[in-house]
Amino acid sequence: MMTKITREYLQQLDEKDGLAKFRNEFYLNDQVIYLNGNSLGLLSRRAEASLNEVMEMWKQYGIDGWMKGKRPWFYFTDELSELMAPLVGAAPEEVCVTGSTTTNIHQMIATLYQPTKERYKILADELNFPSDIYALKSQLALKGYHEDALVQVQSRDGQTLLTDDIIAQMTDDIALILLPSVLYRSGQVLDMKTLTEEAHRRGIVIGFDLCHSIGSLPHELNAWDVDFAVWCTYKHLNGGPGSIGGLYINEKHHVHAPGLAGWFGSDKNKQFDMEHDFSQAIDAGAYQIGTPHMLSAAPLIGALEMMNEATIDAVRAKSLLMTDLLIELVTEHLVPLGFIITTPLDHHARGGHLYIEHDEAARITKAMKAEGIIPDFRAPKGIRLSPVALYNTFTELYDTVSIIKSIMTEEKYREYKNEREVVA
Ligand SMILES: *Cc1c(COP(=O)(O)O)cnc(C)c1O
Repeated sequence: MMTKITREYLQQLDEKDGLAKFRNEFYLNDQVIYLNGNSLGLLSRRAEASLNEVMEMWKQYGIDGWMKGKRPWFYFTDELSELMAPLVGAAPEEVCVTGSTTTNIHQMIATLYQPTKERYKILADELNFPSDIYALKSQLALKGYHEDALVQVQSRDGQTLLTDDIIAQMTDDIALILLPSVLYRSGQVLDMKTLTEEAHRRGIVIGFDLCHSIGSLPHELNAWDVDFAVWCTYKHLNGGPGSIGGLYINEKHHVHAPGLAGWFGSDKNKQFDMEHDFSQAIDAGAYQIGTPHMLSAAPLIGALEMMNEATIDAVRAKSLLMTDLLIELVTEHLVPLGFIITTPLDHHARGGHLYIEHDEAARITKAMKAEGIIPDFRAPKGIRLSPVALYNTFTELYDTVSIIKSIMTEEKYREYKNEREVVA
């Protein structure tokens, strides 16, 4: 370990921080340290302005807003794909901003899962977010398979996955793989490049759920030759509650008809011919289903412009420095009080948040909220701390750890019950 980290040292880092200017663009409550950007990012003035712009067009033009105004709604998601593409390392034609993570999984599986008699299983993992697994199970059921057609890679420590364990499960009966890029609890980053190579060597289609990596670290989906990916935009991308998600589908797959077709997947020049024969768009837009949810898409213009201006590489560099410092502070001050860190320590395997565990985590989280720190709790005993490069400061990391320390040493957590709330 380095020498002890002081609050003054962190203040100096804040003064030198090239991303500090973006903090002023967010609506922050100065009574609160917000460390939950991995569940819901905060509102920025730019995202608010781009939402207001769509509201204004609606006010002025009514139905004509689809073709009139600064950003006609009919082409709105194309513009979002342009802004999104650099964040996933893909061509804009391979990206579509639409749906939600879960509906996009349904679309991608319905499109790319083409089971045969010999090759019909889907490979996932036992640590993924439940919605992904529900979607996979229901897609298998729709094709007439039972739950045993879903293979879930086991974790050895309950927190992380080994690349070799995943590869060992890529057997001849696997048709498709869906894995998270970053595990939502421990924050482990999977080696997407190697996993994709190994899957392709065995003739398996592979895709990733980027919910916990998009806007937090760079991706090279096209260079890695990943087949498909899905993500949400309300976590590290700050698009607002329920903002529309994204999907990537490698250009080599654009020949496939969408498994779930709808009129917004049409070639835009033919869409209003109102024919009953579907004329599929030639790009990832083909996998949209219905009318874009404009009010949930609108904030993304401002949010993505800001992210691209900051650059994802600068965001990743600051994010790693923040979790490095947090790891040191937690090791020094909280590990002696019974906390353990389960996030991988290696940079290449660490995402944007830190996961710490304590037997009293549910009520420690409640005490933290009462003291003005917003983390999130994941049953049974995890606390996620997510310092966000665009709006958190280094000094906040120091204050967070000091406050948690006082909650423990003064036993303030004992005032609360050790059980989770309905939304945790
Ligand atoms: C946040 C998250 C989801 C949420 O899916 P929605 O369809 O946006 O509700 C799904 N999967 C993972 C891995 C997530 O982190």
